[in-house]
Amino acid sequence: MSAGRLTLAVQKSGRLAEGGFDLLKQSGVKLAYARDALMRRAENVPLDLMLIRDDDIPSFVASGACGCGIVGENVLAEAAARSARVAGLQIVQRLGFARCTLKLAAPLEGPVQSVADLEGRAIATSYPALTAAYLKERGITAEIVEMGGSVEVAPRMKIADAICDLVSTGATLEANGLAAFETVLESEAVLIANREALNGAAATLDLLVERFKGVIASRQ
Ligand code: ATP
Ligand code: ZN
Repeated sequence: MSAGRLTLAVQKSGRLAEGGFDLLKQSGVKLAYARDALMRRAENVPLDLMLIRDDDIPSFVASGACGCGIVGENVLAEAAARSARVAGLQIVQRLGFARCTLKLAAPLEGPVQSVADLEGRAIATSYPALTAAYLKERGITAEIVEMGGSVEVAPRMKIADAICDLVSTGATLEANGLAAFETVLESEAVLIANREALNGAAATLDLLVERFKGVIASRQ
């Protein structure tokens, strides 16, 4: 990381990567061709991209390895519920893509039809800290079953009575006989920054934010 250049953490591949690269391209950022799988250098802006898994982005920015990053609020909120350092990060700009909703859902005709019904039940999720914080705020004690993926199969497998999972169209829920009964978090991609780790590149962050704002406004 050279002084004066801003390092932006972006998902290596996936929904955030697609939207992130589109946004950068529309913002006029030209990326140099590179064989390096981790770093991409911008040709016309003092900016370097660090390509990592989205789940790693909050801690990379919190630790100062990157000055800023593009991440989903869902991933940011989960990391913030685990780490005070991440909780201290600033959302600099909402980016308007990768919209999804973290919802509580349960079998259609089952015993769980509301948040109150979760008392004493088991909830499967890939967002254990966020789910725990949500339940604690509402005074509900439930068991949290952490799963890395395919959370929607948990009720059918009798692993859990309900799930807390990302929903976009609801088709996955429906296919598994589940119905959502509560929204835990509305999420979109956001630009986060660590002002102490800008490496002398605060002006580049400002420039990037101005260009992002322009692109977002032109899309509406
Ligand atoms: P990685 O390998 O980087 O961990 P991933 O499997 O977590 O990849 P994606 O499926 O690309 O990554 O999702 C990245 C983010 O995109 C999610 O955390 C969320 O913020 C957002 N997203 C938007 N729509 C959806 C959706 N329909 N389902 C899941 N995530 C979505
Ligand atoms: Zn991920």
